[in-house]
Amino acid sequence: MMMYEDLKLYIDGEFTSGNSGAGEDVLNPSNDEVLAHVPHAKQSELDAAVVAAEKGFAEWRKMSAFERYKIMRKAAELMRARADDIGRAMTMEQGKVNVEAKLEVMMSADVIDFFAEEGKRAYGRIIPARVDGVRQMVIPEPVGIVAGFSPWNFPVSQAARKIGGALAAGCSIIVKCPEETPGSPIGMVRCFHDAGVPAGVLNLVYGVPAELSEYLIPHSSIRKISFTGSVPVGKQLAALAGAHMKRATMELGGHSPMLIFDDIDTDRVATLTSGLKWRNAGQVCISPTRFFVHEKVYDNFVAKFTDIAKNMKVGDGLDADTQMGPLANPRRINAMESIIADAQEKGAKVATGGSRIGNQGNFFEPTVLTDVPEDARIMSEEPFGPVAVMLPFKDTDEVLERANKLPYGLASYAFTHDAGLATKVADALDHGMVSINHHGLAVPETPFGGIKDSGYGHEQSIEGLQAYMSNKFVTQMG
Ligand code: NAD
Repeated sequence: MMMYEDLKLYIDGEFTSGNSGAGEDVLNPSNDEVLAHVPHAKQSELDAAVVAAEKGFAEWRKMSAFERYKIMRKAAELMRARADDIGRAMTMEQGKVNVEAKLEVMMSADVIDFFAEEGKRAYGRIIPARVDGVRQMVIPEPVGIVAGFSPWNFPVSQAARKIGGALAAGCSIIVKCPEETPGSPIGMVRCFHDAGVPAGVLNLVYGVPAELSEYLIPHSSIRKISFTGSVPVGKQLAALAGAHMKRATMELGGHSPMLIFDDIDTDRVATLTSGLKWRNAGQVCISPTRFFVHEKVYDNFVAKFTDIAKNMKVGDGLDADTQMGPLANPRRINAMESIIADAQEKGAKVATGGSRIGNQGNFFEPTVLTDVPEDARIMSEEPFGPVAVMLPFKDTDEVLERANKLPYGLASYAFTHDAGLATKVADALDHGMVSINHHGLAVPETPFGGIKDSGYGHEQSIEGLQAYMSNKFVTQMG
C-alpha cells in the first residue's frame, strides 16, 4: 500500500521542510489517525518564496507560450499517470470517496491542458487609428507574481485553477494550499516539478493562513490575489487587496437554490439531484441547499430523495462500496449539529438523518429537512455539509423571488421540460451560474464564478486566463 505523502513546502524548485520547525499534524477524517506532519512557512521561507517567484517570473514571462504549453501539457500527463496515488492521498486526508478524488485529479489535468492551449491564443488586437501612419495595439501581458489561496474541499482542483491560469498567462505563483489537506496538492506540484517547470515559477507554502495572507497580499512584489473560501475571510482578504490596490479574484460561498417544476420525471430528477447534493458530503460551494419543489410533485420527490439519502452507504472513502465519506474536519460536525438543532427548535422536521454517526471519524448522516421556517439559520447560512432543505412552491414568480433573496449569488439549478419556462428561469436567476436539466458546472472551458457576496471574477475558461493578464496599450507612429 502506498504511504501517505512526505509533506514539504516547495520553494525555488526545492522540496523543503523550512527552518522554523513549526507545523501541524494532518488527520485522517475517517479514523482520526495522524497521517503526517506538515511544515509551516514563516518569514524566512516567505521571503525566499517571493525572491524565487521574482526570478521565476523573469524567466517564465520570456519563455514563448508554445514552450510553456509543452511543460504544462507534460505536467497534466503526469497528473493523469499519478491520479491513483494523488487521489488516494486526497481521500486519506480529506475523506471524499476515492472515485471522486481520482476524478478530481483527472479533471484538474484537463484544467491544466485547457490553460496550456489557451495560453497560445492570448491574442491582443489592433485598433484602427485616426491618423495615417499610427498603429494602435492592445498587448496582453502577464499581470505579475500571483498569491493564490485554495481551500480543503477540493484540494487539487481549486489549486489547479489558479496554477493553470497563472502559468498559462506567463505569471509565477506562490500558492498557499490547505494545511488540513496538503498531501494531494504536493502530489500535483511534483508533477510540475518533474515536467520541468523552471525553479521559482511555482511555489507551494503552508502555514498559519492569516500570517501568510497578511505577508503576501501587501507585499510590493505580489500583483494579483486569487482566493477561494468562505465569505467572511474573502471580504477580509478583498479589503486587504483593495488597501494595497491588488487585483483580486474572489470565489466565495453560496447557498444554491434548486427549482423542481411539476413536469419532470420525479424519480429520475431525485436520483440526479441526490448525486449533486451528497457529492463530497455536501462540502461544495455549488452544492444545492434549498430544494424548491412544485407542490404537485413535492410529496413524491421528497419521498424518493429521502429514500435515497436513507440508503446511502456512509464510510471510509477508500472502501469500494462507500457512497459518501466523512466530513473533512470536526468543525463541520459542530456546524451541522448546530444548524440542524436550530432548525428543529424552530419547527423543522427531520425526514431522515440529523445526527453524527459513531464517535470515530467525522461521519454524519445525509440529512433531509422539511417544514423549515424562514427564520431558521439554515435558510440563510451556507451549511457546507450533507443537509438538504425541501420547500414546496406553487407560483413561478414567487419561487424566483425566494431563490434570489439571499445575499449569495453563486450557482443555481432548475429542472423543467418547458423550454419557455427554462428560458424565463435562466434569465431571472440572479446567480453567477445557472444549470438547467443537468449538472453542467465546473468544466474547464466554461467560466466559474459568483456575484453578490459570492465574490467576483472567474476561474477556468478564457476569463480565467484573462484574470492573470493586463492589457497594455501601445500607440506607435512611424
Ligand atoms: P474558514 O472561513 O476558517 O476558512 C476557509 C478557507 O480560508 C480555508 O481554506 C482557510 O485556510 C482559509 N483562510 C482562513 N482564514 C484565512 C486568512 N486570514 N488568510 C488566508 N486564508 C484564510 O472556514 P473553514 O472552517 O475552513 O471552512 C468552512 C467555511 O468555509 C464553509 O462554511 C464554507 O462557506 C467556506 N468554504 C468555501 C469554499 C469554496 O469553495 N468557496 C471552500 C472551503 C470552505
